[in-house]
Amino acid sequence: MPLYRHTCLNKDLGHGSAFVMQSGKERSMPEGPSIIILKEEIHHFKGKKILAALGNSKIDKKKLVNQKVVDIKTWGKHLLICLPKLTLRIHLLLFGKYSIDEERNGNPRLALTFRNGTLNFYSCAIKEIEEDLDEVYDWSADLMNKAWDPAAARKKLTAKPETFICDALLDQEIFSGAGNIFKNEVLFRTRIHPKSLVGKIPARKRAEIVKQMHLYAFQFLEWKKAFVLKKHWEAHTKKICPRCDIPLVKEYLGKTQRRSFYCRNCQVWYK
Ligand SMILES: [Zn+2]
Repeated sequence: MPLYRHTCLNKDLGHGSAFVMQSGKERSMPEGPSIIILKEEIHHFKGKKILAALGNSKIDKKKLVNQKVVDIKTWGKHLLICLPKLTLRIHLLLFGKYSIDEERNGNPRLALTFRNGTLNFYSCAIKEIEEDLDEVYDWSADLMNKAWDPAAARKKLTAKPETFICDALLDQEIFSGAGNIFKNEVLFRTRIHPKSLVGKIPARKRAEIVKQMHLYAFQFLEWKKAFVLKKHWEAHTKKICPRCDIPLVKEYLGKTQRRSFYCRNCQVWYK
């Protein structure tokens, strides 16, 4: 049996996080806070040299050998392993898994060996970035980053009046790191119907959404670390509205066609 470190962790998260294969109609990729946890878990490889690099990823593994990990960063759902001349971008997608300091199982996309341990990534997308990361990434769009800029997010929303809010909240250029759980929980908190048009939502409510997206990112991180994320869900995967005590609606909405859970009674449809 594979011994993925996160198997236990994600039992709590039946919704699920992508570290474990799931059953059910929709799978979801790990959201930004989960990638922060991954970054913290591999912190001991920072400053260490890659002794061996294997795997079925098409990237040139040979050139990774003897390179030192100079930094480990994240941008939303991207894990960034920075080497002196390039950065490895790891995106776990829907089925991605990783294991740390555990026996390799099956065919990893990338398997890195260090003097102090091993790091294996499975079923994920791996890309090399040669450019300066500041040229590639808008850090101010990343909900988990110190450079997060709520004013910039409000401005980007204002520029998309015809977009459904359920799609806008999944837009990684506006809310990097946010996923479907964020969308459902924040729209419930702010009492906004997922099919509301961004341009019809009052500016004051849009500002409230931006604020709650940032707040939820850090609550997600705290709750996930404490294995209580799911316990705090008010709308995501829920059947009854905790405010109105009536059934929530589950629909696949917007261009993104992701699961939305909402209340017809207390979430206002701005259209
Ligand atoms: Zn309600």
